Amino acid sequence: MALSKKRIVVKVGTSTLTNENGDINIREMDLLCRALSGMENLGYDLILVSSGAIAVGANKMRLAQKPKELRMKQAAASVGQLELMHLYDKLFGEYNRMVGQILLSNEDVQIPERRENLTNTLEALLENHIIPIVNENDSISHTEIESDQKLFSDNDKLSAIVAVFANASKLVILSDIEGFYDSNPHENPGAKLISRVEEIDDNLMRNAGGSGSNRGTGGMITKLEAAKLATSHGIDVLIVNGQKPELLYDIADKKVVGTLFVGKN
Ligand code: ADP
Repeated sequence: MALSKKRIVVKVGTSTLTNENGDINIREMDLLCRALSGMENLGYDLILVSSGAIAVGANKMRLAQKPKELRMKQAAASVGQLELMHLYDKLFGEYNRMVGQILLSNEDVQIPERRENLTNTLEALLENHIIPIVNENDSISHTEIESDQKLFSDNDKLSAIVAVFANASKLVILSDIEGFYDSNPHENPGAKLISRVEEIDDNLMRNAGGSGSNRGTGGMITKLEAAKLATSHGIDVLIVNGQKPELLYDIADKKVVGTLFVGKN
């Protein structure tokens, strides 16, 4: 099926949505909701894939540290998901936009019947100009939280899977950094930003390290894996700085921002 040129999946990570102490970064969230609403006005269909439930929940529950035990992570996710959606609903509402929640686990994308349901729901929401907000179903699907069996990996992979199902033409991954560098800039101050990638090969993968913050979980490895999947379906993938959601307008204007991984035809 041909890709829908005006359909964009945007993924936002925990380290963009929360501050160092785990508080929700309201300013960032508002800027994001405003930019996404503005893009909708330009005629784009948008799907938001949002992380952050566990961090936001842990903060709200006043846990002294990030929960380590699975059941506590799931409890935090359950509290945090509600808080996140409450805020998205409120902030998007300020811009006259409606949102709908979709929570997914492995089976939903692996079993064809469930996959069809997912696609139908996404289409129905978009047809009605409602912005779908997708997250992994952390409070139920333990494989997503337990690191060794992750399919979605802090939603980077999930965002690529959603982009493929939705026939999006672009996947924009908002991170806490300008884009993909030739090495981790937090370890190597001389690292250079790579603005365009045609081929995600092993060489490139070796330049990708794990997460720099204790809130982000995926780091660049999972973003490259997501980019590999999406580009193999012809989808352009961009990694850009989530602190500047207005960059989405530049992407719409086809300006060079962050790192572009070119979709293969
Ligand atoms: P997010 O919550 O936005 O997904 P992550 O912390 O998971 O953020 O991933 C981004 C981090 O990945 C960067 O802040 C950086 O510390 C780390 N990183 C590792 N290798 C690279 C690289 N080659 N280029 C850019 N960032 C890198």
